[in-house]
Amino acid sequence: MLLKEIKNIFHVELDGVYPKEEVDSFFYLMVEHYLGLERFVLALEPNTMVTKEEEQPLFEGLSQLKLHRPVQYILGVAHFMDMEFKVDENVLIPRPETEEVVRWILEQAKEHRGVLKILDIGTGSGCIAIALAKNLPNAEVYALDISSESLIVAEENAAKNGVSIEFIEKDILQTDKLYLNFDIIVSNPPYVRELEKKQMSANVTDHEPDQALFVPDDNPLLFYRKISEFATLHLNKGGCLYFEINQYLGKDTVQCMESFGFTELQLRKDMFGNDRMLKGKLV
Ligand code: GLN
Repeated sequence: MLLKEIKNIFHVELDGVYPKEEVDSFFYLMVEHYLGLERFVLALEPNTMVTKEEEQPLFEGLSQLKLHRPVQYILGVAHFMDMEFKVDENVLIPRPETEEVVRWILEQAKEHRGVLKILDIGTGSGCIAIALAKNLPNAEVYALDISSESLIVAEENAAKNGVSIEFIEKDILQTDKLYLNFDIIVSNPPYVRELEKKQMSANVTDHEPDQALFVPDDNPLLFYRKISEFATLHLNKGGCLYFEINQYLGKDTVQCMESFGFTELQLRKDMFGNDRMLKGKLV
């Protein structure tokens, strides 16, 4: 079949399921991934012939897209901070907002002299920890997660990106002391309330790990409280705690950190204008 004919089938089959531009982008990603063809080939040579064998993963991908499986899980890869990460259903797909958290940390960390000890709590795919390690050659990075399945993926990602990270398998809610100290602790913990679930797309709710996303409606700051307390015991003097936060709970999360003695609190918006990041210092 011709490449342009396959593209047309994608548009017909996914009409009404995803916006047209998104269908284009899925199609290009798959063509690049499975056929190794750059997207300009399609623009310049839409009459490129694709063999039956080459067609097969494209149509398999199409049927999964119809079931709202995220394209990153279909391809098994996601991009974050110009790096490639392996992803599967055991880990949350890295989000662009989380890149902003990493960049914020890098602004501060670049000024630091000597070895910087960093801990990422709830590392998932490892994206935060690995991006920090990659950009801060003098850092010693630790990453913790409750899920052994996600740690396998994160370990693979560290190797794939050529960094070394100390991984720790633990449930932060059950962890009081690690006998390690850090200059920076960062976390993007679960923060979506059940009541917010209906606003989310089926791609997220049907495929991404609940454990990485949801918190009870009556205790949405569960992880923020525990991690703030944990950080007071594990941060060096002058150390900082960074959080990605629920956009609707900015003020409450600030109050939570203050109640544990954090000062110089800074709340930042993400690229969509939502309260998304919070930083506090321990003096
Ligand atoms: N930002 C993610 C989402 O909206 C949630 C991440 C999290 O709960 N830590 O899908």
